[in-house]
Amino acid sequence: MEQINCKICNSESSTAFEHKVLNKYDVKYFKCSSCGYLFTENPYWLNEAYKNPINISDTGIMARNIYFSKIVSVILYFCIDKSAKYLDYAGGYGIFTRLMRDIGFNFYWHDDFTTNLLARGFEKSNERYELLTAFEVFEHFSNPVEEVKKMVELSDSILFSTVTLPEDVPAKDWWYYAFEHGQHISFYSEKTLRTIAEQFGMNFYPFKNFFLMTGKKINSIKLRLLFLLAHFGLNLFVRARMKSLTEADNKKMLKLH
Ligand SMILES: [Zn+2]
Repeated sequence: MEQINCKICNSESSTAFEHKVLNKYDVKYFKCSSCGYLFTENPYWLNEAYKNPINISDTGIMARNIYFSKIVSVILYFCIDKSAKYLDYAGGYGIFTRLMRDIGFNFYWHDDFTTNLLARGFEKSNERYELLTAFEVFEHFSNPVEEVKKMVELSDSILFSTVTLPEDVPAKDWWYYAFEHGQHISFYSEKTLRTIAEQFGMNFYPFKNFFLMTGKKINSIKLRLLFLLAHFGLNLFVRARMKSLTEADNKKMLKLH
């Protein structure tokens, strides 16, 4: 059994299993005995995996973005600051940025790998943001600590989603391994994520597959309650109270171009 050090907490990690990725590469998966992080060997196949950054099997892309916009609008409105500037980090085609601007939150877009289709004119600039969102991004990181370091240079708070490990080492039919597209290379337990937050001196608030790392101290009961109520229409109240930026953005873009 091969031993290497955990990329997050440096503890001993050993081979959990091997599986074919992209239907051709035999890839080793390692498991950390301390923080529970499960990760692939050095992912030499990524260039191939990202030929299409948004993969063909992602039929949930719209439903997911709409769902996230409901949760995030409630949390920002009641817990953070409804008029601050936000950044959707690794924001893909710009769907989430546009949705949040339509509700009335001043969101910007950033992505190193995908073309901005829907949030053009709202690209990230050199400033700090009140909060970063990063949905379905952490499982793509080859070195999570380095990536989080880049993110905390932009903001004190990161609100993100990833599907956490349902058990120590899930069976190979676990859908989130996504062996077929090869883009998922990091899998976390709640403890792994908490370990990362602690390394950056941040507080850690977990919900179901939804996480907030922040330098701020937030009432976790309030946060949990809001998360719950966002599933029962509280986002509609927020939407009614916010002023949509759809029209103002249109005017701004007409002036610029
Ligand atoms: Zn570890």
